Amino acid sequence: MSEDIPVALRRLVFERAGGRCEYCLLPQAAVVYHHEPDHIIPRQHGGRTEADNLALACTRCNRNKGPNIGSFDPQTSDLVPFYNPRTQVWKDHFQLDGPVIRPLTPQGRVTVKILRLNDPARVEEREQLIVVGLYP
Ligand SMILES: [Zn+2]
Repeated sequence: MSEDIPVALRRLVFERAGGRCEYCLLPQAAVVYHHEPDHIIPRQHGGRTEADNLALACTRCNRNKGPNIGSFDPQTSDLVPFYNPRTQVWKDHFQLDGPVIRPLTPQGRVTVKILRLNDPARVEEREQLIVVGLYP
């Protein structure tokens, strides 16, 4: 998805995010696989490869998000776009409950659901990172 992103743009995306996944807040320092620039609006949907449409994402968030741009809100069944790290603020849409990411809004709910932010293995990993002071 991100193979032809120029090095300077990759660096900007990484530094702007402080090296953390902009969806699940996982720090690059905690994992082996490299975080990647994610097209917030995927290219299939007309999203451009430019700073305003890129977010730093860990491999799991990136893979789970795939070419999606949103989903049906599990509470209302409304079609809702994902949380957008460029135009929205994480704390307005999510809240940490220990290692669990609680959604606060429709955008938060579809993002937690499709990116599978609270899969048991991910919650367990965050729990361990909290213990050693690497999360959030
Ligand atoms: Zn992530």
